[in-house]
Amino acid sequence: MKKSYSRVRGTSDFGPSDSARIQTLCARARRVFFLYGYEEIMLPVLEDAGVFVRGVGQETDIVAKQMFRVSRQNDGEHSDVVLRPEGTAQVIRFYLEHGFHKKGPYHKFFYIGPMFRGERPQKGRLRQFTHIGAEMIGAVTPWADAEMIQLAWTQLEILGIGEKELKVNSLGCAEDKQRFAERVREILSRQQADLCPDCRRRAERNPLRVLDCKQSDCRRVVKESVLRERVLCPKCESHFAHVLGVLDRLGIPYTQDPFLVRGLDYYTHTVFEIESPRLGAQSALGAGGRYHTLVEALGGRRCPAAGFALGVERLLLALEPAHEPPAARGVYVAAAQDSLRSEAFYLLGSLREAGIPAEMDYAHRSLKAQLRQAQKSNYRVAVILGEDESRQGVVNVKDMKSSVQKTVRKEEVRALCTELTRAEN
Ligand SMILES: [Zn+2]
Ligand SMILES: [Zn+2]
Repeated sequence: MKKSYSRVRGTSDFGPSDSARIQTLCARARRVFFLYGYEEIMLPVLEDAGVFVRGVGQETDIVAKQMFRVSRQNDGEHSDVVLRPEGTAQVIRFYLEHGFHKKGPYHKFFYIGPMFRGERPQKGRLRQFTHIGAEMIGAVTPWADAEMIQLAWTQLEILGIGEKELKVNSLGCAEDKQRFAERVREILSRQQADLCPDCRRRAERNPLRVLDCKQSDCRRVVKESVLRERVLCPKCESHFAHVLGVLDRLGIPYTQDPFLVRGLDYYTHTVFEIESPRLGAQSALGAGGRYHTLVEALGGRRCPAAGFALGVERLLLALEPAHEPPAARGVYVAAAQDSLRSEAFYLLGSLREAGIPAEMDYAHRSLKAQLRQAQKSNYRVAVILGEDESRQGVVNVKDMKSSVQKTVRKEEVRALCTELTRAEN
């Protein structure tokens, strides 16, 4: 026996029905992005590691533990190319490399594509997953934050995700964040013993990450002695109040979650996360926020920006599997004898040329089995080629829905099929 292979751990195969669901989902998402004035970009999966090391942060889990490095046979161990673990830093690299900062005050982009992180796989957490993401670069107004959240929310509404919870928070500007991080480091240094081992390490190097921890002891410490230390400067305070005011006016329900910091270093100001109560431990459908230091970190001028991403595989989990039958598929051409298969084959071409999906049997099945297949695959029309009919220049056209069968001249088949399949759509 030869060795057989399985897909790589933490990846998914999507067969025809899941692929169709994903395509529908992405098509809907694209329509909404266009309504909001976003333009699509398609960036490579391979990226310079530095984009993420400098952009996302050396100390974050994504960069420190989860990046897949790519090496070619001859490159040895020193490749700086990785499979991109997230989209935002890469979009900023694209924005700077192509000089968009000189082309207008702000730009709105969206992307759909795979991301890679070497996490421990579990339900809703994969090593290759698909992000639908958007970035608005250059706009500082709180209307932009509000539009971003409204857009993410609308995407989920249009996809049919009924149950969802929006959490929002503000981290303040880089200076607020810095001040808060120092204060938190100071407080946590006195409470080391109460923290989990991970947080003991984080408390020194990246103290804000402790706010992310789900361990009950860490949460208690944060709640009792850390959160009240967060003070935003008046400008950040009023920016956030404006955003919340717009959400109220739009009727988008939210809760303010002071624990929400997001696991990437670049976030500042407004951050948000939308969760589904259906998903269990990995409950975030999408998340985002402002990031005012990232453009500078990647070599540009300091520039305000905001963005979010939705996880496609999580969306699939949160959505009810579709129960409706697949759409009717066009025309199945059945041949009563093998001698008629050539005629069937050329008829397919003529139907497809007219824009009608068409198929025939390639397994030498009997006429009865061919018609059963047409039924099973939900074909709208069956064209039946018989020997006697063929000699008389006619074929039988069966409406699979009503079971009404008509005999028509060969020249009329295409027009009748067009009519029958069009009526369906
Ligand atoms: Zn501030
Ligand atoms: Zn902890």
